[in-house]
Amino acid sequence: MRFSEYAGTNRLSCRGKGVTGPNRNVLYITLALMVVIYGVFLAFPARYLYYSLSKSIPFVGSYIFLQAFVLLIATALKDPGILPRARVPEREDPMAPLYKDINVNGIDIKLKYCVTCNFFRPPRANHCSICNNCIEGFDHHCPWIANCIGRRNYRMFFGFVLFITLLTIWVLAFSIVHIVQAANDGVFQEAAASVIVGLFAFVALWPVLMLLNFHARLVRLNLTTNEDITEKYVKTGNPFDQGCAKNCASVLCAPRFPRFIKPVQPQEVELTKVTATSAVAGSAPSASDAAGVQMEQRSPSAPPSESAQVGEVYDNALRSETNHDSTVVNVGSV
Ligand SMILES: [Zn+2]
Ligand SMILES: [Zn+2]
Repeated sequence: MRFSEYAGTNRLSCRGKGVTGPNRNVLYITLALMVVIYGVFLAFPARYLYYSLSKSIPFVGSYIFLQAFVLLIATALKDPGILPRARVPEREDPMAPLYKDINVNGIDIKLKYCVTCNFFRPPRANHCSICNNCIEGFDHHCPWIANCIGRRNYRMFFGFVLFITLLTIWVLAFSIVHIVQAANDGVFQEAAASVIVGLFAFVALWPVLMLLNFHARLVRLNLTTNEDITEKYVKTGNPFDQGCAKNCASVLCAPRFPRFIKPVQPQEVELTKVTATSAVAGSAPSASDAAGVQMEQRSPSAPPSESAQVGEVYDNALRSETNHDSTVVNVGSV
């Protein structure tokens, strides 16, 4: 299901509970690669070493694999922190400046106006050109995961990077052990699969190690990838830096922030279907009634609060392609 008015090109599943970027194909490739490579590891080197070395090799490997797999899916489906667009532009005068200065922890930073989302982006938010939404705590858009990495799914992404690195090391190490043991046992031909899997793990190890090292540094410094690449705080100093321990705790252990857009509830879908049907029949309700939209105006620059949880309702479960007024929600298929 594709929604347009408030949430750019993101695709939804499970009535809006799952949110991904517009292109999921690379995510399917990532998942298939993980399953195939680990399946070969399990079928050949892990099985051989289960009998000849230790029974824990496939079990510990499978635990690491499941952690990485679940964290990948959770990162891919988690709303990264989509900021709903303002219906009334925050910058009413078109000649007004596109920047606004605010002070954070004694350091002046600029808020940039997003002409697509109609508000001054909160600190650390950025507009993803692929998802066409502003994302709170925007880190980057990851094509392998098919989603933005933002404030709400960063820790899952970090966990995935950690476990995929451990998995790669595990697969490489025991593929090498299998090759050596098979050669010693005079059955080297049985280790052909281990050579292929080991080579793949060896090639993959260096990028994932560098990625883990890069993000460990970002967590330690309380920076996002976007802020680091653009050298946003080089001159002023990072206003969010609280020291190594607090930075790690705030990035990895702080309570998860609420969604700004909540999934549609089944009864709301039914209610809106009835409304949309009556609109087609000519009763011409108001635009917001027809679209079934419940929206709470908020200040995008304000910090997230519990009230943000009731921000907007995904109305795109409906095919309310009625002709009245201007609020028409274009709905595609999942
Ligand atoms: Zn935006
Ligand atoms: Zn994105």
